[in-house]
Parts: sequence; C-alpha cells; structure tokens
Amino acid sequence: MSFSKLKLSDPILKAVAEAGYTAPTAIQKQAIPIILSGRDLVAAAQTGTGKTASFVLPILEKFNVERKLRGKRIRALILTPTRELAIQVEANVAKYSKYLNLSSMVMYGGVDSGPQRQRLIYGVDILVATPGRLIDMMYQRVLHFDELEILVLDEADKMLDMGFINDIEKIIDRLPSQRQSLLFSATLTEEVRFLADTVNEDAVEISVPPSSATTPKINQWLITVDKDKKSALLSHLIKQQQWDRALIFIDKKHAAAKLVSQLEKRGIIAEAIHGGRSQAVRERILADFKSGELKFLVATGIASRGIDIENMTRVVNYDLPYDSDDYIHRIGRTGRAGASGEAISFVSNDNFKNLCAIESRLGHIITRKEIEGFEVKKVVPVSILNFVPKHKR
Ligand code: AMP
Repeated sequence: MSFSKLKLSDPILKAVAEAGYTAPTAIQKQAIPIILSGRDLVAAAQTGTGKTASFVLPILEKFNVERKLRGKRIRALILTPTRELAIQVEANVAKYSKYLNLSSMVMYGGVDSGPQRQRLIYGVDILVATPGRLIDMMYQRVLHFDELEILVLDEADKMLDMGFINDIEKIIDRLPSQRQSLLFSATLTEEVRFLADTVNEDAVEISVPPSSATTPKINQWLITVDKDKKSALLSHLIKQQQWDRALIFIDKKHAAAKLVSQLEKRGIIAEAIHGGRSQAVRERILADFKSGELKFLVATGIASRGIDIENMTRVVNYDLPYDSDDYIHRIGRTGRAGASGEAISFVSNDNFKNLCAIESRLGHIITRKEIEGFEVKKVVPVSILNFVPKHKR
C-alpha cells in the first residue's frame, strides 16, 4: 500500500516522500483514515511504530484549508510528557508541513518564556507542549483554547507515570467540548483507559503489536555481570569490539556523572544527560550526539524519553529498567525505520525480578552472553516467564 491511497494532499505526500518513507506503517494505515473521518481515537502504539506521523499527517490534511487564525489562538494541541519528545514531535510537524502554509511551535518549561509568549501573539496552528508550561501560559492568558479543534495526548501512559494527571485535567477543563481527541499510549493500562474515557467520546480503539512496528530487526542480548564490574565491562566492550557509537541508559543522575568520569579515565569520551542539567546543555549534548561528534551518550530514563536518533545502532541498558514498558521503549531507540540494531543489557543478580518481568512481557528469554574476564560471582538465575511483580517500583 502506498501513502497516496490514504487521501492525503500532494504537498503532504511530497514531504513524506522526501522523508524517505515509501509505505505507511501499520499504525499509519489504521489511524490516518479514522482521524480524517473526524472520530476520536485511542491507540496503543509504541515509539518506533511511526505513531507520530500517524496523527500529524491527518491533522495537516484537515488544516490544509484557508482559515484565518486569530491572535493567541491554537487549532491543535499536542501534549507530550517531556521536552525532548515535544521538540521531536514539533520537528516532525515542521518536516511534514514544509509545503503547507501552516504554523507550528514547541513550548516547554525550564527556559525563558518571553520568546514563547511573543510567538503566540499571532496564533499558532499546531502547538506541541509539555503540561507545566502550558498551564502557566494558560493562567497568564497568553493563549486561549476557544478555537481549538484537535487535542492529542502523546505517550499518555508516561504522562500519568510522571504525575501529570492533575495538569492534564486542568487543561482539558478549558478546552471546547466540541473537538476531536486522540490518545496514544504504549500500553492501555486501566489508568490510561480511565483518562481516555474522560477526554474522548465514543472513541475508536486500535492497537499495533510491537511485531508489526517499523522496527524489524533488533538483536537483543544480555550480559550477566557483577554490579561492581559494570563500568569496566562497558569500557572493555567499547574498546574490544571497537564500538563507534552507543546510547547508554542508566538509572540515577549521580551514577551517570560517575560513569562518564570512569570512562574518561579509560580514555573514552562520553557525556551525560539527566534531569539535573539545564535544557541548553541537554540540547547541545544531544546535537553533538546526533551529529556524531559525540560517540557515547549516557542518559537517565526520563531525560532520554523521546530521543530520536537516526541510525542508532546500539543501545545499552547499563541499568536494567524497572518497568518492562521502559525496556521496550528503550530498545525501540535502535533499529528504527528499517535499520538494524543491537540492544545490550547488563544484568546483575539483584536485577533478577526485573528481568523476569521484562522477559515475561517479551514472551521469551533474552539470549545470554558472558564475557571472558567478567564471569559473575553472583549467578543470575534463568527467568520464570509469566512472572508478575508484586511491588512495581
Ligand atoms: P515514531 O514511532 O513516531 O517515533 O517514529 C519512528 C521512526 O519511524 C521515526 O524515525 C520516523 O521518521 C520513522 N517513520 C515514520 N513513518 C515511517 C514510514 N512510513 N516509513 C519509514 N519510516 C517511518
């Protein structure tokens, strides 16, 4: 099936072709006609499936008619859990709308609000925002929602995990009831469904299993290693296997800084992004990593959400994530859109329960490797599949 069957206009098809997409992904095939028909939508789709284009393209199609935008007004609001994801989504909007006469803007906290206010004076067609800053602007009456036509909640599960529910409710209270609402989430948990019921009316529900994602080939494997040997193991792999690049996930921000200096001592240049660094620093580091100038990026889970790096071939779970959804999101950073990738997890004995939860979620055991010279003292047992954690952290 080609994109032209999806009833999208030529300027959109041209931009999509320039992005290098030849055929719509599973989520795009399902979501685009529903959104164009005006129905509300609840979609279970993970990062890496092409979900962003699945809502951005039909929004552009619907907005591709002459309409005068009033000052301080927006027509579509896309809410995302993190600034990185907001930046990413808006970059996609700009890319797909380059042949249209539509405006878009990204808005997030942690930076001076002056330029954002200035930009809103003339109104914006598509605003991508994180909840906190949006609420500030809303209370300051810098923007009004009376002309809003479409609301998108992207990565709704993550927004709930991050405690944004009250903010989201405050925002929804101010939106016109006559609108189209679209909700995307990696998983449709009870909480997400509850949220979906409050935002949507009679929504169509669709779901894209990870197997039909754009991400075809991710080689996943794990290395069992004692906790205190992890940084030595990482340096060893980087050097011995001559890694050119890697995105390395770690749990805590102080551990991220420590790992960077441990690598440095072994002659490996890395940088860390985490919630404790300013937005400007995070953006600079990300830009360096994207350009290839920086080869090794250490990131905490939250800071890394939404990073879309083309041709990312290797992701390392230096710490195994506590949440199996996070594991799936992380490995979704590699092997994107046709490229193949490798996802390596360092697993120590105290990760056993997490590992069981992740492997149960995947439905299979991850291939294990032990590296010579790093044989474990504390054995990691083989998982029991269908394990359900009692106390999810
Ligand atoms: P997303 O799930 O929205 O984060 O998208 C994952 C990746 O797939 C991004 O790098 C997109 O640029 C890419 N992508 C989106 N749609 C397509 C498509 N139809 N064909 C190939 N790549 C795509």
